[in-house]
Amino acid sequence: MLSGIAAQVGQYLERRRAEELAVELARTKDEFLALVTHEIRNPLAIIAAAASVLGEDLESFTLDEQRLHLSTIVRNTQRLSVMAEDLLDLARLESGNLALQPDDTDLCTIIREAVQAAAPHAEQKKLLIDADLPARLDLRADPHRLRQVADNLLSNAIKYTPPGGLVTVTATADDLSNDILWTVADTGIGIPEAERPKLFRRFYRASTAVAGQIPGTGLGLVIIRTIIERHCGSITLADTGGCGTTFAITLPRRGPSPPDE
Ligand code: ADP
Repeated sequence: MLSGIAAQVGQYLERRRAEELAVELARTKDEFLALVTHEIRNPLAIIAAAASVLGEDLESFTLDEQRLHLSTIVRNTQRLSVMAEDLLDLARLESGNLALQPDDTDLCTIIREAVQAAAPHAEQKKLLIDADLPARLDLRADPHRLRQVADNLLSNAIKYTPPGGLVTVTATADDLSNDILWTVADTGIGIPEAERPKLFRRFYRASTAVAGQIPGTGLGLVIIRTIIERHCGSITLADTGGCGTTFAITLPRRGPSPPDE
């Protein structure tokens, strides 16, 4: 009889846990939906306002004023479209519906190509990019996803560093742990220490970026972290002693674990 009661209590506790989990999941989904709606509303309201101002009184504006309103519309449309792409990418990565395609990969080639692609943008902003890399660093990884990480970290470093600054990329192998350590550092506006724990939350933007009115969606780092974690690696913010920002990534050379492998 006692074992019967114990089994019933066990079942009851299991049901309660399942109910709690369902409530938790619904709350997370609601919060996420509210967040997305909020983030979409803002650019949409700006587009609607600019379009209606133009539509109502087109002739009263000079050509330059018309261009200004149109560029506001284009900028906010682009923001929405980047957000839609990022959200889709994130949803696919997080749900596991998007399988990684691991291959024998050389991280140094990926980083060099990303640096080369970012060079014109850096030059335009009068920034130097310094890449300190060995000849090659072989690992098992999805090369397209790692390129996405490299592009995103470099474009952030360039975006958040004022002219005259320096972006430094390094990658080394730790033979003891068989991991690769990859860093992307800049001498830019930095991220206040108190805000760092929130950085990998969806849509989170640091006060330094908001104060500088630097455009962004706050989704890139969440995507980067998901990609790195799918490779069984980790990404952290290294301490820079108050100057600029340094991201440090650790990647195991053996690559992702099944079912990605
Ligand atoms: P986005 O740049 O589109 O806003 P991210 O997810 O890439 O989104 O980054 C989230 C936030 O982290 C940014 O809004 C910015 O506040 C901060 N951030 C990211 N990279 C840097 C960097 N290199 N320097 C300073 N702040 C950064």
